[in-house]
Amino acid sequence: MKIIYHEKYLTDYPTASVEQPERVKTIYETLSPLYPVLGPEPATEADLLLVHSPELIDRVKQAPSLYEVATLAAGGAILAAELALQGEPAFATIRPPGHHASPFSHWGFCFFNNLALALERLRVRQLIRQALVLDIDLHYGDGTVNAFRDRSGVTVINISQKNRDKYLAEVQAILAEPRSFDILAVSAGFDTYQKDWGGLLLTEDYHQIGQWIKAAARAVGQGRYFAVLEGGYYLPDLGQNALALVQGLE
Ligand SMILES: [Zn+2]
Repeated sequence: MKIIYHEKYLTDYPTASVEQPERVKTIYETLSPLYPVLGPEPATEADLLLVHSPELIDRVKQAPSLYEVATLAAGGAILAAELALQGEPAFATIRPPGHHASPFSHWGFCFFNNLALALERLRVRQLIRQALVLDIDLHYGDGTVNAFRDRSGVTVINISQKNRDKYLAEVQAILAEPRSFDILAVSAGFDTYQKDWGGLLLTEDYHQIGQWIKAAARAVGQGRYFAVLEGGYYLPDLGQNALALVQGLE
């Protein structure tokens, strides 16, 4: 298990105040004593164009500090996906998040769709043919759905239950369904946490979800799986929740 992180993720770029640098700082401080940490290269403009329009990329470029961090976040997801392809699971502790970034538009503290870029990069190089995306963030990952709407081979699943038992049962059922995929990518949002906006899940639930993801990927996807950080705003427990998921995944 590898952790992806870059100190520039702490940059105070223009975004909503709730999507603050302390989010990745607390996760990094919890995970870095326990796991090897790798730093990514920024995504190139050619990478960004795999999913996004030139106009959207130019809009983000208007804020240079944001553009630098956003390309490093995309690069973090790309590195996590490359490690996963080699059979090494990875958790990308990145910001800004990405699952609300569509090909032509973005919202919800997202600018580039980190996970979609990482998968599309593997797909166009014919390193994968089929991928399963599991989005466990509280919010519907519209950007990822839009990114793969007209492209074959990538199945995107969002969990929308508003009750803890039903939520967990749905995650378990989806991962137990027979399917074929070459890689399993997880949009890991922790805003489903009991003390966060969603008021749903306990810390131990992220560990359980991580174990289900690992089992599904090992049974079907040759053990290729990775997760990237999306939401999660309750700072006191965010590090422990990420650790629980990572321990389940490892
Ligand atoms: Zn969210």
